[in-house]
Amino acid sequence: MIVILLGAPGSGKGTQSKVLSSKFGFTHLATGDIFRAEIAQKTTLGQKAAEYVKSGKLVPDAIVTEMVAGKLEAGKNYLLDGFPRNLEQAQALDSMLRPQKASIDRVILLDLPESEAIKRLTSRRICSKCGEVYNTVTRPPKNDMKCDVCGGDVIQREDDGEATAKKRLMVFDDLTSPLVAYYKAEGVFERVDASQTPEKVSADLSKLLSGSGSLAR
Ligand code: AMP
Repeated sequence: MIVILLGAPGSGKGTQSKVLSSKFGFTHLATGDIFRAEIAQKTTLGQKAAEYVKSGKLVPDAIVTEMVAGKLEAGKNYLLDGFPRNLEQAQALDSMLRPQKASIDRVILLDLPESEAIKRLTSRRICSKCGEVYNTVTRPPKNDMKCDVCGGDVIQREDDGEATAKKRLMVFDDLTSPLVAYYKAEGVFERVDASQTPEKVSADLSKLLSGSGSLAR
């Protein structure tokens, strides 16, 4: 089963993906997380992606699709988070899945007003070591700016500063409408209100996925 979570930066895709992956046994594939890890390790891919990621621009489609194609294994259940980001990537994904005789079961948009997304992004902090996510308003780390889980330094992502966050939201808005239209036409599109509590969003997502066949528990 292949599920795609769409949503503006800050809509909770990462948080919800973790919950759903452990509940339904998905392999979580988050292109933004992969790029951040590759950049931190200074790999060739990381060096190619760094400038785009830091400035809030999309990494070129050819780089992203090649990376995803190298990770998708036939027969596994995937939760895709942050991919596809535009129509070209959606079509590339279809071409990757066709030979595997796999198809996309659900595309769920975590729907969040822009003003709320900006608020969440600029107050988001992450652990530089393990990636645990915090929020200066709703979930600050207990001990100064040290991670509750691993003790690593809790920092602001370079692209969560206000100017870059706004740019990322604009990019998202521009590219999402065609993507939504594409998946609506395929009959797999759903929408969840992401301004609810994380628990309620998880419950809504679980309901949608439980109703969709092979993964239901
Ligand atoms: P995210 O963690 O999903 O907000 O992604 C962070 C950054 O990684 C984005 O602003 C892009 O620079 C890059 N990125 C992640 N996924 C993609 C994608 N599917 N296509 C292009 N760039 C991406």
